[in-house]
Amino acid sequence: MKKVVVGKCKLCQETKKLNFEHIPPRSAFNKETRYYTLKQTNFLQKAKEYVFEELKPKSKKEQGGVGQYSFCEECNGFLGSKYVRTYKKFAQIAMSIIQSNDRNIKAFEFDISDINLLKFLKQITSIFIATNSHSFTESYPELLEFVKDENQNKLPNRYRFYMYLNNEGQIRNGHIHFTNHYGTVCEFTFQPFGFVLSIDNPNRIMQLSEITSFKHYDKIKKVEKLPIILNKYPTYYPIPLDFRTENELKGST
Ligand SMILES: [Zn+2]
Repeated sequence: MKKVVVGKCKLCQETKKLNFEHIPPRSAFNKETRYYTLKQTNFLQKAKEYVFEELKPKSKKEQGGVGQYSFCEECNGFLGSKYVRTYKKFAQIAMSIIQSNDRNIKAFEFDISDINLLKFLKQITSIFIATNSHSFTESYPELLEFVKDENQNKLPNRYRFYMYLNNEGQIRNGHIHFTNHYGTVCEFTFQPFGFVLSIDNPNRIMQLSEITSFKHYDKIKKVEKLPIILNKYPTYYPIPLDFRTENELKGST
């Protein structure tokens, strides 16, 4: 049983009883996920042992889906009724395409004309809000406004979103990182997707498919076919945008 937690909701900012939030949604392959929680520094020091040499963390294995207490019941219900179904639909399409093809295929083309891309982008944004602390939306309040109003599409250009496919490696937790190479990034990975939110970086992250334009979905939704190409990357180490393969990592010291 999940415990009762009272705290400040990350969406409406009111202090209320919080709901255990499945991140990603329970319906998108996160119902029975078993996982360990591990301090980032500890994982980094022993990444190779944990990932490839069956070192087991000392923490106890958790189950019932990955998530945390982020939103109140009302906000959880709002997200559930507005955005979650769209996310689930795209996740199911992506998962079945990945699974029914050769695992060595590195990129897939999708027709996304029947996905409500604005809702999809808002769901992704809500994941980054849920996985980060309150200071995240204090620094980036436009993200909060974007999620709270289902019709709002005026997200400033300083926020750029990217996605890829994933079915190999570890979960990435969405936490904000300040990197030398990519600037400020949040990366969330959970099969079959990986998402990157890049903040204040004028340069496009070339190895990923940019989906920032999903916010203009109202202008593009009339098209018959809307192709997107998504690369598939492994995520073994908890380093943002590190997509080295198992072989590359095992060969390195
Ligand atoms: Zn709330």
